[in-house]
Amino acid sequence: MNKQQLKQEQPIAYRTLSHALKNDKLAHAYLFHGIPGTPKLECAQLLAQSILCGNRDQDGFACEECADCRRIKAHQMTDFIYLDGTTTSIKKENILKLQHEFSKTGLEHTGKKIYMINHAENATVDALNSLLKFLEEPNGQMAAILICDQLERILPTIISRCQLIPFHPLSQELCYEICREELGTLDAYLLSGMIRSPQEMRKVNETEEYQQARYLFLRFIEESAVSIHQAHAGLLKEGFDNKRIDGKLCMRYFLEMLMTFYRDLIKGKTDCEDAGYQKSYEKQKACVQNPQTILAILIATRDKLWKSVNVMLLCDQMIFQIRNVQKLLKQ
Ligand SMILES: [Zn+2]
Repeated sequence: MNKQQLKQEQPIAYRTLSHALKNDKLAHAYLFHGIPGTPKLECAQLLAQSILCGNRDQDGFACEECADCRRIKAHQMTDFIYLDGTTTSIKKENILKLQHEFSKTGLEHTGKKIYMINHAENATVDALNSLLKFLEEPNGQMAAILICDQLERILPTIISRCQLIPFHPLSQELCYEICREELGTLDAYLLSGMIRSPQEMRKVNETEEYQQARYLFLRFIEESAVSIHQAHAGLLKEGFDNKRIDGKLCMRYFLEMLMTFYRDLIKGKTDCEDAGYQKSYEKQKACVQNPQTILAILIATRDKLWKSVNVMLLCDQMIFQIRNVQKLLKQ
């Protein structure tokens, strides 16, 4: 992630780190924490680059372009060690072995060393303790950056030895503002309704599951304003049961988009500036009478999605329930 994004999305982390970098007051150990999707790993990499870069900007951050910055990004610098607890736990032996290697290789020109541990909640207590003990030895020009999704899974004795940097989820409005120009108003609006991280929004926008869900959603809101039967037939024909994509994920995106749409109907207004969305919105506003009940059906359907169910069967049940709501209202 670049510095401007960090400044915009995580101003507290930006200011805290900028202050430490500019005044040469870095802590021995940092612990970056926040829910999945917040840019902890990207920011940790920027901090590592900023500690080692010889060409920092006025806020103290790395240039991200020099040879050292690029080597850190590619994990090719011997003074920078990256451990990842995403799939396997990190044990004390791993840390001791690394420290041994570290002491043999000698320093590069910067004279500093950095450990970065992603998903530190999956490192054993012994591993983290031996790492932190090592860092506190007076000879060390060393820093550790620990990253975790769940702070409650890290022992208080570890937490107390680190400076905590919290990462906050962003508001829907801010996510929309940040991504509007890059992704376009419709995608920025739909994605900010389901994800609170611009990084994640950009990633999901590229997936086939999202693109298919978006196509189905636009078709559905247009057709269901005329006839729910026609909209149902459209879903059956084009549906989520497509070999190229993950049907459950596609249906989840579809449901999230519809939920955003029905929430707008309940509010009586929409902030989406896309002309097609607005047109369908105005049409539906004139005919949908009980959006609260339909929203409840959508939420219940989404909650059933992760149990082992047949996606198209679940979709049928949902449409059947929506049709019943409309039938009752017409009677
Ligand atoms: Zn640099």
